[in-house]
Amino acid sequence: MSNTNYLLAVEDITVSFDGFKAIEALNLYVDQGELRVIIGPNGAGKTTLLDLICGKTRASAGSIKFKNQEMTRMAEHEIVRAGIGRKFQTPSIYENLSVFKNLEVSFPRGRSVFGALAFKCTEDVRARAQAVAEEIGLAAALELEAGLLSHGQKQWLEIGMLLMQDPELLMLDEPIAGMSARERELTAELLDRICRNRAMIVIEHDMEFVARIAHKVTVMHQGKILAEGAMEAVKNDPRVIDVYLGH
Ligand code: ADP
Ligand code: MG
Repeated sequence: MSNTNYLLAVEDITVSFDGFKAIEALNLYVDQGELRVIIGPNGAGKTTLLDLICGKTRASAGSIKFKNQEMTRMAEHEIVRAGIGRKFQTPSIYENLSVFKNLEVSFPRGRSVFGALAFKCTEDVRARAQAVAEEIGLAAALELEAGLLSHGQKQWLEIGMLLMQDPELLMLDEPIAGMSARERELTAELLDRICRNRAMIVIEHDMEFVARIAHKVTVMHQGKILAEGAMEAVKNDPRVIDVYLGH
């Protein structure tokens, strides 16, 4: 039995694509406020694991519990509503809308019994967008058209759009791909800040970045967990070294 204090408990999860097991009997436990990084060679099943947790892909077997609630039979929008936000590899912002509008349209409406009175909440939405813009370092760019942002700023805006939903678990797939060294450092600081109020699962390749942000690292290989623990321990694990040298 799993410890009921985990924020997320993935147990014995398996997914097959035409008989090929992309994930096999995998267990993953994430604590409240934890920043977990998942690493592993291409094809290890990292993205598929996030797809399973957010309901984009259905598990062939196993259980995914978020705050002790079973997620595997829930629709994607219900999983979002339960408090899980997920950022994909390619940013999906509205390039021709302002930064503020991008944040505004991401505010969940109709979630509460007051949803029908959403127009009354305009000030709340504005305040929330302002707070999120500050958190993602875009407070000075609220009126700017999103298409004019740098690559890094676009990534932060998308994270901000997820923060508008105030998720308790935020999942990011390779968030620093294509970023400059400066943007990487700012992203590390941003993730530190975000984790004060919620848990995160981040997939990343850049080992320096992983060492900088991770509370704990999970190494995946061929749909299974190869090693898990502190970055220092994982990086010196002979099985992990083997897999990375083998690629
Ligand atoms: P990673 O993100 O670790 O690079 P993925 O989760 O994207 O790995 O892929 C894991 C394996 O599952 C790969 O062999 C990939 O080709 C396969 N796979 C992923 N999604 C599908 C799908 N929808 N249909 C068939 N095979 C898939
Ligand atoms: Mg991937």
